[in-house]
Amino acid sequence: MKRVANKEYNRGFAAGLRHAIIVALGGECSRCHKVRDPSILNIDHIHGGGNAHRRRTGTGPQYYKALLRLIRSHALRLLCPNCDKRVEYLKRVRKTSLTSKGT
Ligand SMILES: [Zn+2]
Repeated sequence: MKRVANKEYNRGFAAGLRHAIIVALGGECSRCHKVRDPSILNIDHIHGGGNAHRRRTGTGPQYYKALLRLIRSHALRLLCPNCDKRVEYLKRVRKTSLTSKGT
């Protein structure tokens, strides 16, 4: 019983941290600036490595605490699901093309 309560607490705590991170990052999609719904915004690692990061820290409060530290180094941004897909797509295209010029 105690373990369940603890899990619930952790979930609420992580959600609170997630919300704080989203507010700190401007609260809107950094690409289209149209989406401001925190429940669908993704926290994106600008330089990649988000999945490896999550694997190291797990997805609980530890992960969000690590993200809070990354905000200060400007390594994070918010993306709505549409822009996230678009960025992923562009990354893939760039990887397979040698004519990339950045941006
Ligand atoms: Zn967007």
